[in-house]
Amino acid sequence: MKIESRLAQIGSQKDNVTGAVSFPIYQATAFRHPALGESTGFDYARTKSPTRSVLEEAVAELESGDAAFACSSGMAALQTIFAYFSSGDHLIVSLDLYGGTYRLLERIMSRFGVTATYVDTNDLDQLGASLTPQTKAVLIETPTNPLMMITDIEKVTGWAKSNGLLTIVDNTLLTPYFQRPIELGADIVIHSATKYLGGHNDVLAGLIITKGEELSAQMAILHNSIGAVLGPQDSFLLARGMKTLALRMERHQSNATAIANHLLTHPAIAEVYYPALPDHPGYDVQQRQSSGNTGIFSFKVKDARYVAPILREVKLIAFAESLGGVESLMTYPAVQTHADIPEEIRRAVGVDDRLLRFSVGIEHVDDLIADLDQALEKAMQEIAQ
Ligand SMILES: *Cc1c(COP(=O)(O)O)cnc(C)c1O
Repeated sequence: MKIESRLAQIGSQKDNVTGAVSFPIYQATAFRHPALGESTGFDYARTKSPTRSVLEEAVAELESGDAAFACSSGMAALQTIFAYFSSGDHLIVSLDLYGGTYRLLERIMSRFGVTATYVDTNDLDQLGASLTPQTKAVLIETPTNPLMMITDIEKVTGWAKSNGLLTIVDNTLLTPYFQRPIELGADIVIHSATKYLGGHNDVLAGLIITKGEELSAQMAILHNSIGAVLGPQDSFLLARGMKTLALRMERHQSNATAIANHLLTHPAIAEVYYPALPDHPGYDVQQRQSSGNTGIFSFKVKDARYVAPILREVKLIAFAESLGGVESLMTYPAVQTHADIPEEIRRAVGVDDRLLRFSVGIEHVDDLIADLDQALEKAMQEIAQ
C-alpha cells in the first residue's frame, strides 16, 4: 500500500471491539492479568500502552524499521538513544547540528564519558580522520538545520558499516513521507515528532525507530528503563496529526519552493539556503535519496540591521521558535535555536547574525509572499533613513 493510504489509515482498523474508526485513548496505567503467568500483552503503561502501541506500530512500518518507541520529546528520544552507549564511547556527529542535541552531548553526555567530534559528515576524509578505536556511531542530520546541508546517507552508512559503527539519522526535517534512512542502511532513526509528524504546533513528542532484532530489544529496555515515554493523549494527537502528513508535506514543499525562488531575486536578500534550488550544493544527492523537500529554508539578509524590523513587521508569519507546523514561523537561529552552540562553531558553519530561518506553513503562498515582502520593504526603508 502507498504511504498516503497507510498514513490516512493509522489506527482506523485497530479497534475490533467497537469498530471505532478513530482509535481510542486508553487512559490507563495498569492492566488486569487474566491469571497468574498470563497477560493481555499490556501490564504497566511505561512498558507498553495501547494507544502508544498503535502509533509505534504505524511508525515502525512507515520508516521501514523493526520497532518504534514513542518518547515524551525529541530530546527524550535522543537521550534514550545516547544511553545505549557507555563511558568511553565516542560518536561522530554532523557539524551543523540541532542546538539541543549539541547541548545534550556537550553538557550532559560528556559527564558520563560519552564524547563527540563534529564534522562535515558528507566528507569521508573528515569522517576517517575523526575515527578512533572508541568510536561507536555516526549521528547525522540531513538536511541540517538551519543551513540545509545535505549528507549522502548511503555513503555514510556504507562507511560506518565497514568500520563496525552504527548510523543514527535525525529525520525530523523530511519525515518518512520524503525520506526513509533505514532503506539507505541506517540502524536508528530519530524524530522530533513535535515538528512535521505532529504538524500542528500542539504536541511535544519524539520517536525512535530501530532496525535489527538485537538493537530493537536493547532499545526497548532503554525506553522502559528510562521511562521518558509518550502519554496516551499525546500518542493520540500525534497519530491524528500524521494522518494528513502527505497533504501537509506536499503543501509545505510547494510553498517553500515558491517563496525561496521569490527571495532569490529580492534586493534585501543575500543568500537562500534550500536544497530544492538547483544550485544548492546538495541538490543532486537530495534528489537521489529523497522524494521531496522539507518546508523550511534559511536565508541571509544583506544587512544584519534588517533582522529586527523584519521580525517585528511580519504579521501572518509568527516570530517563534519551532518548525514543521501548519502555521508559518520565523526564527533567528543565532540567538534562539542555536544559542547553545559556541560562536566559533556557529560562525564556521555560517550561522551568523544575518541568517533567518523560515518554517513555511500551509497558508496560501500569495499571502505569505505578501507578508514577507511588506516586512522586507519596511526593513529596507527603515535602514536607508
Ligand atoms: C526540535 C528538534 C529536536 C528536539 O526535539 P524536541 O521535540 O523539541 O525535544 C531534535 N532534532 C531536530 C532536528 C529538531 O528540529
